[in-house]
Amino acid sequence: MVMSIDDFISRAIIDNLNTGIVVVDLSYDVMLWNGFMAKCSEIPKEMALGKNLFDIFPYMPKAWLELKFKSVRILKGYSFISWKQRPYLFKFRHNRPITGDIEYMFQDCTFLPILDENAQVTSICIIVQDMTDIAISQKMIDEMLDANKMLQQLSHYDGLTNICNRSYLEKLLEKEFEKAKRDARPLSVAMFDLDHFKRVNDTYGHLAGDEVLKVVAKTVGNHLRQADILGRYGGEEFLIVVPDMPEDELILFCQQIRASVEETTIHHDGIDIRVTLSMGVAPYREDMKDYLQVVHEADIALYQSKKLGRNRVTPYSHVDKIICRE
Ligand code: GH3
Ligand code: MG
Ligand code: MG
Repeated sequence: MVMSIDDFISRAIIDNLNTGIVVVDLSYDVMLWNGFMAKCSEIPKEMALGKNLFDIFPYMPKAWLELKFKSVRILKGYSFISWKQRPYLFKFRHNRPITGDIEYMFQDCTFLPILDENAQVTSICIIVQDMTDIAISQKMIDEMLDANKMLQQLSHYDGLTNICNRSYLEKLLEKEFEKAKRDARPLSVAMFDLDHFKRVNDTYGHLAGDEVLKVVAKTVGNHLRQADILGRYGGEEFLIVVPDMPEDELILFCQQIRASVEETTIHHDGIDIRVTLSMGVAPYREDMKDYLQVVHEADIALYQSKKLGRNRVTPYSHVDKIICRE
């Protein structure tokens, strides 16, 4: 058969495209195999033509592909599969030098029905587009976003105790404060400080002190509800932000926290350590200017707890203002 000039041009274009073009009949026998396919598969056109697609590529997802073909045949419309859904249909190695763990060429595949003059599907064309560069860029972006997220997380949490650090805690508290003001909802702050913690360090060493801080943070954390926020405010000073808890319930809640720390034995290097904490609790009031005021009042109440002998909880409303001015 003599090819017309148009056929010749079309063939030349198809063969030189940087896109894979395969045409198979309804039994999956290859009818057209362009240069891109020959180059990427290392199977020349003469060897591929007339062969069954599943014989050439036994790894192909047969059941999946049959379903795809069926829908193209019945609907007589094209079907598309992105590399994001299925990284590749043809297992081709790519030629990019640095791709980390990207081993094979990522592909977008389009399945086109080829109709005869009676509008019957006689064959299906598979168009294979190399999406490796896009996949690599996407992967790099994803990795950068992950790293950013991790850095952000690290910048929010205290390295020793794994709870919020002071700056993040203040940010969260500020938000809660605004919410309480806007919605007229209860909000309280409990500030606590370990009693005679210097002695723990002096007696058992700084590492033992660190272990105590970790265990205390964990013990307190176990008492909190989803909405409560625990943060490390200073060295051995912590703050709990407690939204939406009535004051009588709040004192009980704080007492439970205090008691559970008192009852906890911290094991470090074969030694058992016990500590207590003093706490001050202050509720938000409508007349408060900003969140710092509620923290300040919790601090005053904590100071009262220390003055009264430690290992106790003092609500701001019980603060003896004369003691605090000493
Ligand atoms: P008080 O009952 O009045 O609170 O007495 P205190 O000894 O706990 O109070 P003080 O503020 O005098 O001492 C706090 C100590 O906490 C001093 C500091 O060395 C120690 N500290 C602060 N941060 C850390 C830390 O990250 N690890 C350890 N091990 N110790 C810390
Ligand atoms: Mg202390
Ligand atoms: Mg202190």
